[in-house]
Amino acid sequence: MSKLKSSESVKVVVRCRPMNEKEIAGGFGRIVDIDAKLGQILVKNPKGGPGELPKTFTFDAVYDCNSKQVELYDETFRPLVESVLLGFNGTIFAYGQTGTGKTYTMEGLRTDPERRGVIPNSFEHIFTHISRSQNQQYLVRASYLEIYQEEIKDLLAKDQTKRLELKERPDTGVYVKDLSSFVTKNVKEIEHVMNVGNQNRSVGATNMNEHSSRSHAIFVITVECCEIGLDGENHIRVGKLNLVDLAGSERQAKTGAQGERLKEATKINLSLSALGNVISALVDGKSTHIPYRDSKLTRLLQDSLGGNAKTVMVANIGPASYNCEETLTTLRYANRAKNIKNKPRVNEDPKDALLREFQEEIARLKAQLAKRGVGKRKKKNRRRQGGEGEDELEDDDGDGEEDEGIKNEPEYWREQQEKLEREKKAIMDDHSLVAEEKQKLLREKEKKMGDVQREREASETLATKIKAMESKLLVGGKNIVDHTNEQQKMLEQRRQEIAEQKRREREMQQQMETQDEETLELKETYSSLQQEVDVKTKKLNKLFAKLQAVKAEIHDLQEEHIKERQELEQTQNELTRDLKLKHLVIENFIPLEEKNKIMNRAYFDDEEDQWKTQPITRIEGNQQMMKRPVSAIGYKRPLSSYAKMALISRSDPRYRAENILLLELDMPSRTTRDYEGPAIAPKVQAALEAALQDEDELQVDASTFDPLRSGSARKSKSRPKTGRKIGPSSVGSGTPLYPQSRGLVPK
Ligand code: ADP
Ligand code: MG
Repeated sequence: MSKLKSSESVKVVVRCRPMNEKEIAGGFGRIVDIDAKLGQILVKNPKGGPGELPKTFTFDAVYDCNSKQVELYDETFRPLVESVLLGFNGTIFAYGQTGTGKTYTMEGLRTDPERRGVIPNSFEHIFTHISRSQNQQYLVRASYLEIYQEEIKDLLAKDQTKRLELKERPDTGVYVKDLSSFVTKNVKEIEHVMNVGNQNRSVGATNMNEHSSRSHAIFVITVECCEIGLDGENHIRVGKLNLVDLAGSERQAKTGAQGERLKEATKINLSLSALGNVISALVDGKSTHIPYRDSKLTRLLQDSLGGNAKTVMVANIGPASYNCEETLTTLRYANRAKNIKNKPRVNEDPKDALLREFQEEIARLKAQLAKRGVGKRKKKNRRRQGGEGEDELEDDDGDGEEDEGIKNEPEYWREQQEKLEREKKAIMDDHSLVAEEKQKLLREKEKKMGDVQREREASETLATKIKAMESKLLVGGKNIVDHTNEQQKMLEQRRQEIAEQKRREREMQQQMETQDEETLELKETYSSLQQEVDVKTKKLNKLFAKLQAVKAEIHDLQEEHIKERQELEQTQNELTRDLKLKHLVIENFIPLEEKNKIMNRAYFDDEEDQWKTQPITRIEGNQQMMKRPVSAIGYKRPLSSYAKMALISRSDPRYRAENILLLELDMPSRTTRDYEGPAIAPKVQAALEAALQDEDELQVDASTFDPLRSGSARKSKSRPKTGRKIGPSSVGSGTPLYPQSRGLVPK
């Protein structure tokens, strides 16, 4: 297949579910009319007067309440999955109000082949395709995740409490870090993966319906295909299929929620409103900034919206009158999405292809096994030649032994075992040996047998590992066999042809419709005045009706805008109120100094979309703060026995401690320095040295000292000294020892 560089629009189809029992029992009217041939959908306003025209929308395809799952699959989804098998990225979104059939469309009833949704149908499709392929190697893997309140949960992980992070790499784009994925060999295995994920989805929620209406579930199938290209080299194509069951599109009622609940309410549909904003920005034509980063969902599916992917959006609606507003909102949303342009291309030889890794690993293991086989043969050879040759291979080659060793592996091992057994027996029977020596030899043999056994086991594990890995690389006709017979194949083909035909017919009809309007104006030759009046009146009527429809649409949109603005204002008010409360708490309970410290340390982490505080660092040594010591286990702060008693018996909050903010221990910065000894200015130092110089040259002879003849001492050249060290020798042994002043010490 050639690489398609051209852009193509997001395909949008609408599906209307049948009236449910409650709606029938309640006697609600139908307001949705569907013209499948034209791809048109008409919605009557239940409150409108008799003259009011129904609102008309045109889509790539529309499906009424009698539509079958297979029909949708063949016409709309099959071509997309087919592209994924060719190496394109593909995404299917199900959008709509809760209870309109998103999950039915995506999953359906798995037990009933007639009512299976896109996901199980795509499993069948993918593995059948592989089974019919030739000279291609495939690797299929699946992941399943959920976004709930802007947190990503891996539905296939063992630890369901863990939340995953989104990361971005310049080469491969946005990805979920540590998301588990399972390589699957057949439909059964991938179905099992889906079941495990679904189970985790429902186990985590007390009320499954409520939970699923507020969370987005994304099932990801990655298909890698390896094929020899025209250049004779192996090429890998990777197609990724995202199957997205979005949260219910209805507005979450904000019933004066505060604090945690408000936070929850604002987060629930954040991804969905961000999706709407991204769509608007994409089709607006004027926006230079597309707000992908506003939510996890839009970041994760960035490629599917205006990027490298083929995208189908299914808008699900209900037919009953009481859903009118939501139905119109959904249709408008879908109508906008039609204009998104994507640039899909085949992903050829990407860096992160798992298939390549698998192939390399298999080759590595095989080489390892071959080496083991060869080594063994060599060892045996050498032993035979050099009697009780010292084993342990030194890896010298050119020994003429080739890898035949791997071929008859079991035989070789048996031979080895038998040989050792024989040798053992020979030792046993040899009566010439001393008992002690015999024991020693026997032990040696036994050890050798153990070694052989271990070697054998290691080789076997290696071989099974290779086999297991190879079995995951699927090859048509070998790993999976196509069980459908020729007749079924023909039937499938026919169905596809019909689907294609239908699609083309619809496109032609739509084109004709638009052409009709244009040609009407061109037919300007009239045979009579009356005819001209007739034609022009008809035209006028038609244009007038159109004008009315557009006016009504504008009016509706304005009303919707006003409502939306009011809601945003309400949210803003609530948030401001919340903010004011936080301010009050901060102003009154957190010391100004502490507050400033925290403000200085706080920074916004874009990756995780939340505020964080930088750890306290010291300039010297860069050491972190010590841990806050635990002074009262189980209590927020140390308590006296009286306080403990009061805590239990008294109802007033006097002794109920509560920490408003938990911080690491923030020690005051150090204001002292270590003692370093006096620093003497160089000038002073020089002067001192000069002064001390002559003293050193001076010879003082204490023996000649006569206190009575002090005059002679004064006669000496030197000036009187202070602080001159008096050696202990000069002190009489009888005199007590006093602390000595150090003064200036000579060199
Ligand atoms: P959502 O996922 O949008 O909240 P569901 O897929 O759970 O809605 O559908 C709500 C109910 O309507 C389910 O019982 C489902 O079986 C039924 N339903 C939805 N669409 C159809 C359809 N096209 N044909 C028959 N039943 C449908
Ligand atoms: Mg659902």
